[in-house]
Amino acid sequence: MRALIVSDIHANLEALQAVLAASPVYDVVWNLGDIVGYGANPNEVIDESRRLGTVFVRGNHDRVCCGLSDVEDFNPIAQRAARWTECVLTGEHRDWLRHLAAGPVMPDGPQVSCVHGSPIDEDEYILTVRDAWISLHAPRTRITFFGHTHVQGGFATNGDEWIRLTPRHGRLLRGIAPAEPDEYELRLREGVRYLLNPGSVGQPRDGDWRAAFAVYDDEQMLLTWYRVPYDVREAQERILEAGLPDRLASRLREGR
Ligand code: ZN
Repeated sequence: MRALIVSDIHANLEALQAVLAASPVYDVVWNLGDIVGYGANPNEVIDESRRLGTVFVRGNHDRVCCGLSDVEDFNPIAQRAARWTECVLTGEHRDWLRHLAAGPVMPDGPQVSCVHGSPIDEDEYILTVRDAWISLHAPRTRITFFGHTHVQGGFATNGDEWIRLTPRHGRLLRGIAPAEPDEYELRLREGVRYLLNPGSVGQPRDGDWRAAFAVYDDEQMLLTWYRVPYDVREAQERILEAGLPDRLASRLREGR
C-alpha cells in the first residue's frame, strides 16, 4: 500500500494541483490538516481534498475557519485570513470542517498514526529533538505522521540515540530552491520510532518555496519526501485579488 501524505495545504490550489500532477501512483491519501486558511481557494481545495481521500485530521486553521476555535488566538494576519475564509466558505464546507477528526487517527492498523501537531496535543509544534522526545515515547504506534510546523523532515530514536531527519534535496544550492522537482528517500528500520513530517503543500516555511509532500510505502518500508515547483505567481495574484494581506503572498516565494 502506498499512501500520499499531504499537510498544510492552506487553500493553495496551484500547489495542490502541482503535487497531484507530480506524485507517483498511490492507493490512499492521508491529509494531516490545515486544509484552509491563508490561501485564496478554500472551497476548491476542500472539494479536491474530499475527492482524494477519506483519512483526515483537522488542523488549527480548519477549526478556527469553521468557528470551532477562537480566532483571537491567531496573530493579526492569520486572523484576517481566517475571517475572510469563514466568510467565503460554503455552508456545506464549513459543516464538513466542523466534523473533521482530531488526531491521532490510525489509518493503517497498529503501525501508523496521523496527527496535526503532536500525538499529545493537536496544537503543539514539534520543531526540535527536545520537542520530539515525549511524542516519540507517547504514541501507541511506531510511526507518526505530523504537520503543523510547515517544515519537511522529522525525528527518530532507537531508544539510545535521538536524531533529526532532514531531507537533503540535492539541487538546493546555497539555500535557493531551483524550479525543478526533487525527491529524497528514507528507509524505515525495525526497532526505530519515527515522527515524520511531509512538509507543507501550500505554505512551506523551511526556506524552500516548492510544494512539499511525502509518499509512504508500507511494504518496502520506505518514505520518500518530495518537492515540486508550482505556479507561485498565480497563487500570489489570487491572494492579492481576494484582498488578503500582502504578506501571505510574498512569503510563498520566500518559503518562510
Ligand atoms: Zn498550517
